[in-house]
Amino acid sequence: MLITISEIPDEGLTVETPAALAPAFGEGGWELKAVAIQVGRHGAEVEVSGGFEGTVSLVCSRCLEPFPFRVAPELAVRLLPKPSLRAEEVELSGDDLEVDFYDGDLLDLAALLRAETLLALPMKPLCREECRGFCPVCGGNRNQVPCACEVRPADPRLAVLQGFAAKRSP
Ligand SMILES: [Zn+2]
Ligand SMILES: [Zn+2]
Repeated sequence: MLITISEIPDEGLTVETPAALAPAFGEGGWELKAVAIQVGRHGAEVEVSGGFEGTVSLVCSRCLEPFPFRVAPELAVRLLPKPSLRAEEVELSGDDLEVDFYDGDLLDLAALLRAETLLALPMKPLCREECRGFCPVCGGNRNQVPCACEVRPADPRLAVLQGFAAKRSP
Protein backbone atom coordinates (compact mmCIF):
# COMPACT_ATOMS: atom_id res chain seq x y z
CA MET A 1 0.00 0.00 0.00
CA LEU A 2 1.58 3.22 -1.20
CA ILE A 3 0.46 6.42 0.44
CA THR A 4 0.95 9.66 -1.46
CA ILE A 5 2.28 11.91 1.26
CA SER A 6 1.10 15.20 -0.23
CA GLU A 7 -2.44 13.73 -0.29
CA ILE A 8 -2.60 12.82 3.39
CA PRO A 9 -5.47 14.96 4.70
CA ASP A 10 -4.96 17.35 7.60
CA GLU A 11 -6.94 15.06 9.90
CA GLY A 12 -4.70 12.14 8.94
CA LEU A 13 -5.41 8.67 7.63
CA THR A 14 -6.54 5.60 9.50
CA VAL A 15 -5.71 2.14 8.19
CA GLU A 16 -7.76 -0.56 9.89
CA THR A 17 -8.21 -3.25 7.28
CA PRO A 18 -5.27 -5.51 6.48
CA ALA A 19 -6.55 -6.23 2.93
CA ALA A 20 -4.69 -3.37 1.24
CA LEU A 21 -1.41 -4.21 2.98
CA ALA A 22 -1.64 -7.98 3.19
CA PRO A 23 -0.38 -8.96 -0.30
CA ALA A 24 2.85 -6.96 -0.05
CA PHE A 25 3.36 -7.86 3.61
CA GLY A 26 2.65 -11.55 3.02
CA GLU A 27 5.65 -12.48 0.88
CA GLY A 28 7.70 -15.41 2.17
CA GLY A 29 5.02 -17.03 4.31
CA TRP A 30 4.18 -13.94 6.33
CA GLU A 31 0.60 -13.06 7.14
CA LEU A 32 -0.96 -9.81 8.29
CA LYS A 33 -3.87 -10.48 10.65
CA ALA A 34 -4.91 -7.10 11.96
CA VAL A 35 -3.86 -3.50 11.65
CA ALA A 36 -4.79 -0.27 13.42
CA ILE A 37 -2.52 2.47 12.16
CA GLN A 38 -2.80 6.24 12.04
CA VAL A 39 -0.81 8.25 9.53
CA GLY A 40 -0.53 11.95 10.20
CA ARG A 41 1.36 14.70 8.40
CA HIS A 42 2.75 17.97 9.65
CA GLY A 43 4.28 19.74 6.70
CA ALA A 44 6.83 17.32 5.28
CA GLU A 45 7.01 15.28 8.44
CA VAL A 46 4.97 12.07 8.53
CA GLU A 47 4.04 10.26 11.70
CA VAL A 48 2.98 6.61 11.73
CA SER A 49 1.56 5.26 14.97
CA GLY A 50 -0.58 2.41 16.20
CA GLY A 51 0.07 -1.28 15.92
CA PHE A 52 -0.50 -4.42 13.92
CA GLU A 53 -0.52 -8.15 14.30
CA GLY A 54 0.99 -10.71 11.99
CA THR A 55 2.55 -14.12 11.82
CA VAL A 56 5.93 -14.98 10.36
CA SER A 57 7.14 -18.44 9.43
CA LEU A 58 10.30 -19.13 11.45
CA VAL A 59 12.48 -22.19 11.91
CA CYS A 60 12.95 -23.43 15.46
CA SER A 61 16.57 -23.11 16.55
CA ARG A 62 16.30 -26.32 18.59
CA CYS A 63 14.34 -28.82 16.45
CA LEU A 64 14.67 -27.05 13.05
CA GLU A 65 10.92 -27.36 12.36
CA PRO A 66 9.14 -24.37 10.79
CA PHE A 67 6.46 -22.75 12.93
CA PRO A 68 4.32 -19.60 12.82
CA PHE A 69 5.61 -16.86 15.13
CA ARG A 70 3.20 -14.13 16.19
CA VAL A 71 4.32 -10.51 16.21
CA ALA A 72 2.31 -7.53 17.44
CA PRO A 73 4.59 -4.49 17.44
CA GLU A 74 3.59 -1.02 18.50
CA LEU A 75 4.51 1.70 16.05
CA ALA A 76 5.75 5.20 16.69
CA VAL A 77 7.78 6.22 13.66
CA ARG A 78 8.60 9.70 12.44
CA LEU A 79 9.47 9.96 8.77
CA LEU A 80 11.25 12.82 7.10
CA PRO A 81 11.94 13.41 3.42
CA LYS A 82 15.10 11.63 2.38
CA PRO A 83 17.78 14.32 2.53
CA SER A 84 20.41 14.93 -0.12
CA LEU A 85 23.54 12.85 0.31
CA ARG A 86 25.50 15.59 2.03
CA ALA A 87 22.73 16.46 4.43
CA GLU A 88 22.15 12.76 5.14
CA GLU A 89 25.59 12.37 6.69
CA VAL A 90 24.76 15.14 9.07
CA GLU A 91 21.28 13.84 9.86
CA LEU A 92 22.36 10.26 10.53
CA SER A 93 25.12 11.27 12.88
CA GLY A 94 22.40 11.66 15.50
CA ASP A 95 21.15 8.41 16.98
CA ASP A 96 17.43 9.08 17.04
CA LEU A 97 16.16 5.59 16.19
CA GLU A 98 12.58 6.71 15.85
CA VAL A 99 13.33 8.65 12.70
CA ASP A 100 13.13 7.11 9.26
CA PHE A 101 13.12 8.61 5.77
CA TYR A 102 10.83 8.46 2.80
CA ASP A 103 11.82 8.84 -0.79
CA GLY A 104 9.90 11.10 -3.15
CA ASP A 105 6.25 11.64 -2.27
CA LEU A 106 5.44 8.02 -1.44
CA LEU A 107 5.25 6.10 1.80
CA ASP A 108 5.32 2.30 1.43
CA LEU A 109 3.35 1.24 4.48
CA ALA A 110 3.68 -2.51 3.90
CA ALA A 111 7.47 -2.15 3.65
CA LEU A 112 7.45 -0.20 6.91
CA LEU A 113 5.46 -2.96 8.63
CA ARG A 114 7.85 -5.59 7.30
CA ALA A 115 10.81 -3.64 8.66
CA GLU A 116 9.12 -3.31 12.07
CA THR A 117 8.35 -7.04 12.01
CA LEU A 118 12.00 -7.93 11.40
CA LEU A 119 12.91 -5.90 14.48
CA ALA A 120 10.40 -7.90 16.54
CA LEU A 121 11.79 -11.34 15.65
CA PRO A 122 13.74 -13.32 18.26
CA MET A 123 17.43 -14.11 17.74
CA LYS A 124 16.89 -17.75 18.74
CA PRO A 125 13.36 -18.75 17.77
CA LEU A 126 11.76 -21.63 19.64
CA CYS A 127 8.65 -23.43 18.35
CA ARG A 128 7.62 -23.61 22.00
CA GLU A 129 9.34 -22.97 25.29
CA GLU A 130 9.59 -26.67 26.14
CA CYS A 131 10.80 -27.78 22.70
CA ARG A 132 12.87 -30.92 23.29
CA GLY A 133 15.02 -30.60 20.17
CA PHE A 134 17.14 -33.42 18.82
CA CYS A 135 18.43 -36.39 20.76
CA PRO A 136 22.24 -36.11 20.84
CA VAL A 137 22.48 -39.93 20.70
CA CYS A 138 20.12 -41.05 17.91
CA GLY A 139 19.52 -37.68 16.23
CA GLY A 140 15.73 -38.06 16.36
CA ASN A 141 13.38 -35.15 16.88
CA ARG A 142 12.32 -35.74 20.48
CA ASN A 143 9.10 -33.74 19.99
CA GLN A 144 7.92 -36.32 17.45
CA VAL A 145 9.61 -39.58 18.39
CA PRO A 146 10.20 -40.27 22.03
CA CYS A 147 13.40 -42.30 22.14
CA ALA A 148 14.82 -44.34 24.96
CA CYS A 149 18.37 -43.20 24.52
CA GLU A 150 20.30 -42.67 27.68
CA VAL A 151 22.05 -39.35 27.49
CA ARG A 152 25.27 -40.14 29.26
CA PRO A 153 27.41 -37.02 28.95
CA ALA A 154 26.59 -34.81 31.89
CA ASP A 155 25.24 -31.34 31.37
CA PRO A 156 28.40 -29.29 30.65
CA ARG A 157 27.27 -26.66 33.14
CA LEU A 158 27.05 -29.33 35.83
CA ALA A 159 30.47 -30.67 34.84
CA VAL A 160 31.92 -27.23 35.41
CA LEU A 161 30.27 -27.05 38.81
CA GLN A 162 31.53 -30.50 39.74
CA GLY A 163 35.06 -29.57 38.71
CA PHE A 164 34.77 -26.45 40.78
CA ALA A 165 33.56 -28.41 43.80
CA ALA A 166 36.35 -30.98 43.38
CA LYS A 167 38.97 -28.25 43.39
CA ARG A 168 37.55 -26.66 46.49
CA SER A 169 37.27 -29.82 48.54
CA PRO A 170 40.47 -30.59 50.52
ZN1 LIG B 1 11.36 -26.74 18.29
ZN1 LIG C 1 17.57 -40.84 21.02
